[in-house]
Amino acid sequence: MKQISGLAAILVMTTTAMMSTGCGARSGEGASTADFQWQIDRFDDINVLRYQVPDFDSLTPRQKRFIYYLSQAAVCGRDILYDQNCKYNLPVRRTLEAIYTTYDGDKTTADWQAFEKYLKKVWFANGVHHHYSGDKFTPEFGAGYFDSLIAATPRERLGDIQGSLLDTVKAVIFDPTLYPKRVDQTAGVDMVAASACNYYDGGITQREAEAFYTALTDTTDRQPISYGLNSQLIKDAEGRIVERVWSAEGMYGPAIRKIVEWLELAATVADTPEQEAYTRTLIDYYKTGDLRLFDRYSVAWVEDTKSTVDYVNGFIENYGDPLGYKASWESTVNFKNLEATKTTQIIGEHAQWFEDHSPIDPQYRKPKVKGVSAKVITVAMLGGDCYPATPIGINLPNADWIRRDHGSKSVTIANITAAYDAAAAGNGFAEEFVLRPEDRELRTRWGTIGNNLHTDLHECLGHASGQLAEGVRGDELKNYGSTLEEARADLFALYYMNDPKLVELGIIPTLDVAKTEYNNYMMNGLMTQLTRIEPGKTIEEAHMRNRALIAGWVYEHGAADRAVEFVRENGKTYVVVNDYDRLRSLFGELLREIQRIKSEGDFEAGRELVERYGVQVDPTLHAEVLERYAALDIAPYSGFVNPRYVPTFDADGNITDVSIEYPTDYVDQMLTYSSDYSFLPNRN
Ligand code: ZN
Repeated sequence: MKQISGLAAILVMTTTAMMSTGCGARSGEGASTADFQWQIDRFDDINVLRYQVPDFDSLTPRQKRFIYYLSQAAVCGRDILYDQNCKYNLPVRRTLEAIYTTYDGDKTTADWQAFEKYLKKVWFANGVHHHYSGDKFTPEFGAGYFDSLIAATPRERLGDIQGSLLDTVKAVIFDPTLYPKRVDQTAGVDMVAASACNYYDGGITQREAEAFYTALTDTTDRQPISYGLNSQLIKDAEGRIVERVWSAEGMYGPAIRKIVEWLELAATVADTPEQEAYTRTLIDYYKTGDLRLFDRYSVAWVEDTKSTVDYVNGFIENYGDPLGYKASWESTVNFKNLEATKTTQIIGEHAQWFEDHSPIDPQYRKPKVKGVSAKVITVAMLGGDCYPATPIGINLPNADWIRRDHGSKSVTIANITAAYDAAAAGNGFAEEFVLRPEDRELRTRWGTIGNNLHTDLHECLGHASGQLAEGVRGDELKNYGSTLEEARADLFALYYMNDPKLVELGIIPTLDVAKTEYNNYMMNGLMTQLTRIEPGKTIEEAHMRNRALIAGWVYEHGAADRAVEFVRENGKTYVVVNDYDRLRSLFGELLREIQRIKSEGDFEAGRELVERYGVQVDPTLHAEVLERYAALDIAPYSGFVNPRYVPTFDADGNITDVSIEYPTDYVDQMLTYSSDYSFLPNRN
């Protein structure tokens, strides 16, 4: 895997540095990307982008209707996530919005701009805590200014946010000691008490919550439900510990009933009878809260590989619960990217050819290799915990027994990656760090394709290739194992990237793609990935170590014939590749050695490689890179506004077609969602 965290992780883009994962090439070549405005807002550490939905028009009218209904269902659960993240997020958001939409005073003051920025951050994070770090935001305006805004806001716009609730809202915004962290997993603290998230309430302790679920768990059950996944756990007035289940008639009922309404319409236009059937199972689960139904739905969903349109809608990921039982609500709507999925299929079909021609010792080649296949999707709508910050790949379902018995769906989201790359194209990074104009041109033309192809080869072939010598278990490399494994998969990808076979198979049009990827890989491994390391620190993360190892080893071994070199110009350091074929043979040599290390379990040789090339940082170069990067002022986090789907109706009120629009106003989308898709009360 590349950049995967946790068992069934969502892969999240956390920086603007190029980073992709999963298996699947994306063309990235939408119809009209050239003059499309990708970035539409910037505040604090956030970029707000748009994504395109290429090929939406190639879908049938029925599929477009399906997407339209699912996209409505995807927005209806937004309030649920706010309440899950912290029990006062909804009244906080509504208070801020009431002020924002009625204020007619001076909007040029620093106070107002700080207020607006704070609201934009709350929208982006679905609450008062940073979406990534989980730390509570500190407003850059004072409580006195807030009081003056409240005084100027019509009472009726605040609804029931009056008196003590209004006092609490103010305290949540301004008191740094109140709900300081959304999730606190510090060892030794009561994580339930210390975390601001709303999955537990009524003074229940961590020990009580854990005891509650331990008692429920039947360790002999081979197909256990995901205990606690869809409920809040509270201690009631009588001191009893009870679950408040999230269902149409339970907690969050008003929002869930809306989701169900749209899913019922969606079921009537599903792609296949099987898809209609499991959509109805999902509806029954939402109506009852019965987790056995959710598992039945998940099994049918994971086995559906035929449908073009697909979706996720439910309580899915448990990162927001310090104890890992409860899942935040999320939704995505998507359809298969047939063109890009074709690439992964071709690679998979020729897996044996790649294995047979690999530069490793023949005894360590796999006699029978099976390429891993996965699909590439185009996302059409993001909701809940996937909005506005979104994953670039998804691997579901999460239930261990379903993964064991039925497998999982691994998807990469092509149009989101394409949007990240397109938005990054104008951020000045290439101009700052790429010396030769012709390399910058290559990067613009082939950068995304090269990066995606690297990912495909890494995931579909790299990890799956090779075999161990007899008697070797596979865990001999210990703490160096994951770095060396990532290096092995990367090298497999890099070696084949520059193989004419790829052009012959029609996977890439030209080996310029390989040149671009070699340029980017060497520059990143030798230099620019240091932007993610703090001054004075060494490299720790396995993927980063792997890249430093490969780039450093290849640089050193190609030094005699200057295959790659550092060039100093105008006081700045650049990495320049001079000989791509030499580079390819060096990648092959290192692949052979790392495969040998893995196959023989040669811990000492593995340790030596990683420690010598993968860990240490040149402090002078590091300082230079950090300074140049900081000057670019690139926001570390990005998220997206959604497209808007507009149905057209016939005389009888039936939907005949759906068109797509790309809004350009982040604030407008947030206010629209808050007014049209907000179904929960302030206290749930
Ligand atoms: Zn990997």
